[in-house]
Amino acid sequence: MADFIVLFGPPGVGKGTQAELLVRRFKLPHVATGDLFRDHIKRHTPLGRLAKGYMDRGELVPDAVTIGMLRERIEQPDAANGALLDGFPRSAAQADALAQLLAEKGEAVRVVLLISVPTDALLERLANRRTCSRCGAVYNLVTNPPQQDGTCDRCGGPVVQRADDQPEVQKKRIDVYLQQTMPLVDYYRERRLVEEIDGQQTIPEVHHQILEAIGRSRARPAQR
Ligand code: AMP
Repeated sequence: MADFIVLFGPPGVGKGTQAELLVRRFKLPHVATGDLFRDHIKRHTPLGRLAKGYMDRGELVPDAVTIGMLRERIEQPDAANGALLDGFPRSAAQADALAQLLAEKGEAVRVVLLISVPTDALLERLANRRTCSRCGAVYNLVTNPPQQDGTCDRCGGPVVQRADDQPEVQKKRIDVYLQQTMPLVDYYRERRLVEEIDGQQTIPEVHHQILEAIGRSRARPAQR
């Protein structure tokens, strides 16, 4: 069974950071729908133009568009042995589509890693979050700042605040998460796929707990 791992959690919980550590370790592609949309926006594609308005308002891009984009990505050869899904699914329709898409390959979601942090702590993290506009590396001004102010350690690109990390949009994104995405946790809980992880620990501690959770999920019989 391939490793299709879903990383779940509100915006600002540290999904992106943990995803980077995991893909390095497991050699899985990091499939982040937010990054895919941002890439389309940068390239001025029709899909990017469509997604931008929703993203700027902190709303979900319509399911049909998002599912189509995800399907195309998952069908690339590098995802044959699995993928780390970050930011997808975010709605019930997307969860159903994912199950169907994987079933067509004889696969299923291996585990859903739910990283949790209380909302007030999230808002503080999001306020301090900065992102490299060239390579997408994520920083926190307090806990993980770039070595040189405003410059990415990895690629030298400009480190800025994402448009959708402005306070009003952040609140909207957290509301959307609680209303539209949180119900999916029950969907996956019913399928016994959820492993909950306390996101208020250090980055290595969260990573360690995630590795343990993946180990446990590999020891369980597949849920199809
Ligand atoms: P993220 O980088 O995951 O926080 O996503 C940024 C924005 O991209 C979200 O606020 C949505 O507007 C859009 N987006 C990303 N993933 C999805 C998805 N699975 N479904 C709908 N919209 C998405």
